Amino acid sequence: MAASMKLSVVVPCYNEEEGVHELHRRVSAICQTCVGDSYELIFVNDGSKDATWKIMGKISRTDEKVVAINLSRNHGHQLALSAGLQMCRGERVFVLDADLQDPPELLPQMMARMDDGCDVVFGQRIKREGETFFKKASAFVFYRLLGRMVDIDIPRDTGDYRLMSRRAVDVLNSMPEHHRFIRGMVSWIGLRQEALPYERSARFAGETKYPLSKMIRFAIDAITGFSVRPLRLASYFGICFGIATLLLLAYVFVHYFTGHSVEGWTSLAVIVLALGSVQLLVVGVLGEYLGRLYVESKGRPLFIIQEVIASPELSARLDAPKKVTAK
Ligand code: UDP
Ligand code: MG
Repeated sequence: MAASMKLSVVVPCYNEEEGVHELHRRVSAICQTCVGDSYELIFVNDGSKDATWKIMGKISRTDEKVVAINLSRNHGHQLALSAGLQMCRGERVFVLDADLQDPPELLPQMMARMDDGCDVVFGQRIKREGETFFKKASAFVFYRLLGRMVDIDIPRDTGDYRLMSRRAVDVLNSMPEHHRFIRGMVSWIGLRQEALPYERSARFAGETKYPLSKMIRFAIDAITGFSVRPLRLASYFGICFGIATLLLLAYVFVHYFTGHSVEGWTSLAVIVLALGSVQLLVVGVLGEYLGRLYVESKGRPLFIIQEVIASPELSARLDAPKKVTAK
C-alpha cells in the first residue's frame, strides 16, 4: 500500500471546529474523482483550544482514509504543515488550508499540470474575497517588498495552497530549519514549478488565525530566511550619515568664517536622536539573525506529536514519542 498511494492531502487546522466536516466532505469528493481510492487525508491539529481534535478523531475513526495527528501544543501554521508533510506517503501531495478559502476543486487542473511534468503547481491568487482591506493591502506590500529583498524568485500572492511531487516534498522535508517560510523554501528547491491563477473565496467558517502579530513574525521569518540584505543596513546607514556629517561640517565652517556661530541645541538633539535610533535599529537586525542562529543551533525537533489516529501500517512507521491509536 505504501508505494502505491497516489495522493496525500495535508491540512493544518487550528480552531477550525465549524469547518472540519465540510472540509472532509469537499476534499474527499474531489480526491475520489481524481484518484479513486488511492489517497489519504492528513489532518494536523495544531493545539486547537476548541473541539477540532475531537471532531477529527471521530472523522478518522469512521473514514479509514483520514489520518489525524495531534500536536502537543500550538506550533504555528508552518510547523503544523511540516508535521503533515513528514507523515504523508503519497506520490503527490496536495496542501490546503482548513478554512476552504482555496477551492479543493482545482485539484484536477493541478493534477493535469503535474501529468505534463510539473513538480510543483501552486495556486496564485488573482482576487481575494471576504478579507479586510488591511489584510489585502499588507499582503500586497509584503510580497512586493519580499521580491525586492530576496535573491530567489518567490512568486507573488501565493500561499501554501499547492500540489507537490514526491521528490519536491522529500527535498522540503530534508530542510531542517525551524523558522520556516514554506512557500519560499519550495521556490528555492527549483525543478519545474507553475502557477495556477484562482480566485480566493471567503472563509467557510470562523475567523483568520493570523492576527497582525503573527503576520509580522511570518514576514520577518520570510525575509531573514531568504536574505542577508538587512545585515548590510549598518553599512548603508553608515555611508548616508557619513555624507550628512560632511555636509554639516561644511555648513559649520562656512558659518564660522563668515563670522557667525552656529546655534544649535535643537539640531544637536535631532542628530543625537537620529544616530541613536539608527544604531538601535541595526543592533535589532543583528539580534534577529543572531536569535535565529541560536534557535537553529539547539537542534530541537520541529514539532512534537502527541497522538496519531492512523492505520496500523502507518502507525508502525512512527518513531517520535507519542501515543498511536491504530484504527
Ligand atoms: N493554522 C495553524 N496554526 C496556527 C494558525 C493557523 O495550523 O497557529 C492553520 C489554520 O487552521 C488554517 C491555516 O493555518 O488552516 C491558515 O490560517 P488562516 O486561514 O487563519 O490564515 P489566513 O488565510 O487568514 O491568512
Ligand atoms: Mg485562511
